[in-house]
Amino acid sequence: MFPRLALLRSWIGRVSTATLVVTLFVTALGACVLGLMVWKGYDSRRIALAQNETETRNLAQSLAEHATHTFQGADVALEGIVSSLKWRPDPGESFNRRLRALVDNLPQLSDVAIVDAAGDVTHASVMPVPQINNADRSYFGYHRDHPDQKLLITGPLQSRTSGVSVFAVSRRLDTKDGRFAGVVVATIASNYFGDFYKTIDLGPGGSIALLHNDGRLLIQWPSLQSGRDMSDSALFRTALRQSSDGFYLTVSPFDGLAKYLAYRESSRYPLVVTVARTKDSVLAGWREAVRSDTTVATAMLACVVLLAAGLAAQLRRRQEVQNLLRERDAHYRLIDANMGDVIVLTDMRGIMRFVSMSVEAVLGLKPEQLIGRSWTEMVHVDDVPALQAVAARLRKSQTGLCAEFRMRRAEGDLVWLEANFAYTCSDDGPGNCVVGTLRDVTQRKLMEQEVKALNARLAELARTDGLTGLPNRRSLDGFIGRAIGSAASLAVLMIDVDDFKGFNDHFGHQGGDDALRQLGNLFSNLVTGMHGFAARYGGEEFTIVLPDADADAAKNFAESLRGAVRALAVRNPASAQGCLTVSIGFACGTAPFDSALLLRDADIALYEAKRRGRDRCIGAAPAAFVADAGPLQPGQEPASTASAS
Ligand code: GH3
Ligand code: MG
Ligand code: MG
Repeated sequence: MFPRLALLRSWIGRVSTATLVVTLFVTALGACVLGLMVWKGYDSRRIALAQNETETRNLAQSLAEHATHTFQGADVALEGIVSSLKWRPDPGESFNRRLRALVDNLPQLSDVAIVDAAGDVTHASVMPVPQINNADRSYFGYHRDHPDQKLLITGPLQSRTSGVSVFAVSRRLDTKDGRFAGVVVATIASNYFGDFYKTIDLGPGGSIALLHNDGRLLIQWPSLQSGRDMSDSALFRTALRQSSDGFYLTVSPFDGLAKYLAYRESSRYPLVVTVARTKDSVLAGWREAVRSDTTVATAMLACVVLLAAGLAAQLRRRQEVQNLLRERDAHYRLIDANMGDVIVLTDMRGIMRFVSMSVEAVLGLKPEQLIGRSWTEMVHVDDVPALQAVAARLRKSQTGLCAEFRMRRAEGDLVWLEANFAYTCSDDGPGNCVVGTLRDVTQRKLMEQEVKALNARLAELARTDGLTGLPNRRSLDGFIGRAIGSAASLAVLMIDVDDFKGFNDHFGHQGGDDALRQLGNLFSNLVTGMHGFAARYGGEEFTIVLPDADADAAKNFAESLRGAVRALAVRNPASAQGCLTVSIGFACGTAPFDSALLLRDADIALYEAKRRGRDRCIGAAPAAFVADAGPLQPGQEPASTASAS
């Protein structure tokens, strides 16, 4: 019991809801159809039995009346004969013709005869009158011994004239003084009833019996038995004692078949008629109807089961698809909830039709706040044209297009987004639309800007001298390189602070640094008006480049610079002049330039300025450059342009 229950539970657990519903439906439908059929079968059986009872009872009544009328016809005829003989005890030969006419008019009668008190037949419907004695007949003995006038029915017995089986109906004849005078007897052939009964269709095994109420079987159709004593049957022992008519189920004593039997007792004569139909024949129609109903119902149920199986398969498939969709939806939601990127679907007018949930983390807005709005509302106004250009090119792009733009967050601040846009066109789904994958790159953008600024700063630092703020030697090379391409002439000044070691020694390196910064500022200011370039060359040496400066300009500039340094009046105890001075060597050239040569010449001129006593300007070449000693030729000593003050 319990393992079966567990088996059922495990089956219910395994089958899909759809299968379960359809199975229950089919089971319920099957139960309903079965119930309906049982009810209908039971009801139609009840109706068939009731109909049979009515018909059989009616038939029994009709046959009882038939028997009554049959015997009544004979009775009336005998009564007429008895009356006639009462007044004419010896009717003569002609009476035989009357008897003959009587038989001819009443088809149930076979013979009519008058038997005298000795039992001899005196008159008969059969001619010539048979010379027979019927004193041995039971009816003769009865009438002789019983003075009553009632009609007596006896038989079956064999006719002594025709030899066939007959019933005898008889009355007693009395003399005028009331003594026994004989018997008038009429016979009715057993076949008379048999021939009539066989016209009635009672189905296989159906039977009709005519009985005397003392239990004697007068005739049974179809066996045509007669004379059997049936007084011990249920009919006589029970049924007739309760009612003169009735109906019940019994087992036939003739053929042993179960039969429904209706009986009716004649109200006038001691006769009983029974009509019996076998149970099988009564229920044959009902069985056939039940069989055909069962066939139809089974066919219909089979169709329903097939349809239900198909429906269950369909529902199961739909359930599977739904499960798959639900699973995919769950996956999608999981991805959507945990994905950093934002998926946006816009139609061709730029109206957002779908926005993934991840937008809330990026823009602080829920998808439903964006769906139905145009993307241009959200994008920074400066970035809209670029994005519109991307949108215009998108239809022709096979791989999609990338763009970076800014969008305004719910809080009002801007967020940088990197997007990949793709144009999709499908009949199945949203149709023509643009799918955008947006990624928040604000942090990256900020870092890029920081790196850019840092790089600019580093580049600046790489080009600048940290102490004086002047461009360093690397910048100098760059400037010269650029100037070479554009300037017609170029002047290079190499400047060295005089006796700076001593300065340091006296004022310390801090004081030396301050002096160098002061000089750097001075040089920077001086070159500004000249479109020149001042750089710290290294240590306490500086370089100035003057594009498009000819020799005079270079010389004048050098001198004014030297004077400007002196004008600073920075005390230098180590210097013979008592103040900070510089020595300057300069060189000029015209395009095409050899910058290295210019620098070298200027450097040589500087050394010469030192050698000649410092605080002076020496031009390397040409001769016009040199103020005092003329141009410095290779191997020739340069001349100083300044004297100690
Ligand atoms: P001269 O007139 O021949 O050029 O003599 P000088 O002492 O200037 O030349 P020297 O080459 O002997 O010494 C240069 C000095 O410059 C030595 C060094 O201490 C000083 N100096 C170089 N760079 C710096 C600097 O950045 N700061 C300071 N305070 N001193 C520097
Ligand atoms: Mg030096
Ligand atoms: Mg020096």
